[in-house]
Amino acid sequence: MRDRSFRQTEKGKGHGPKKSLGQNFLIDPNITRCMVDYAQIGERDVVLEIGPGRGMLTREILNSPCSFLHIIEIDKTLAPFLEPLLKRHETRTSLIWGDVLTVNLKELSPSPTKVLANIPYNITTPLIWQILEHLAPMGTKELVLMLQLDLAERLCAKPGTKDRSPLGITIERMGQVQIAKKVPPSVFWPAPKVESAIVQILLDKNYDLASKRPWRRLLKVAFARRRKTLMNNLACVYDFFKDREQAYGLLKELGLSPTVRAEELNADDWQRLYEHILTL
Ligand code: SAM
Repeated sequence: MRDRSFRQTEKGKGHGPKKSLGQNFLIDPNITRCMVDYAQIGERDVVLEIGPGRGMLTREILNSPCSFLHIIEIDKTLAPFLEPLLKRHETRTSLIWGDVLTVNLKELSPSPTKVLANIPYNITTPLIWQILEHLAPMGTKELVLMLQLDLAERLCAKPGTKDRSPLGITIERMGQVQIAKKVPPSVFWPAPKVESAIVQILLDKNYDLASKRPWRRLLKVAFARRRKTLMNNLACVYDFFKDREQAYGLLKELGLSPTVRAEELNADDWQRLYEHILTL
């Protein structure tokens, strides 16, 4: 019943959610509070929120003691929801209208220390890469994100599981990731077809790793054909190795089997492999 009257009010305002922009708005204040609580925002924190939508999470962030809030939103028709809210906090907020994937995050000033977002699921992976690449070296230490549950599980995948991925391995080398809370479709409007999860990523080392081209390339090549062995994937890229013999020799030197697959390596194996490749 509450949901029905909510929808009617929305219809009246003429701001129906846009599926193409992944607009599944949070409607449960307990969930937004939970996201802000996980982030433990203090007075010295500068927060970046991506995709504020109608401002449900934004309002909760503004109730925290954060010193500054940057907001990036692509859909200008949401201005009637966001502008009055930000006007009340104009000395500590800044709103950029645009596609977050094309905004130069390095130029945000002051630099964000924490990122909070309920982001469209179709841009999640490139967006997390972008945050790791451009914001981690600038001082971002924590991300609290609402993600599709299966992607969240992929990010947390352990060595030897089929969900292991370049992004998950990079996060593991830079810090830690955990699923803080699983979230049902009913907390969104409209309800998505999939389960979601609040994911917390803490960054505490190797802040410039995601911006290293050889690291990104190594992982990309190693996972390019998942059913092949790591050696086969690496050996077919000739600027890594002269030939298969050299790839075989390196894996042996690192104590890795020539039949190992990329998904089986742990984060330390990746680091050692990376360091050797840099010396070739
Ligand atoms: N944060 C709000 C909430 O929780 O209710 C809205 C979340 S909704 C899942 C995703 C939001 O991201 C929408 O407001 C959408 O317009 C915005 N968005 C989609 N693609 C974007 C992009 N490339 N750059 C910036 N914002 C984007």
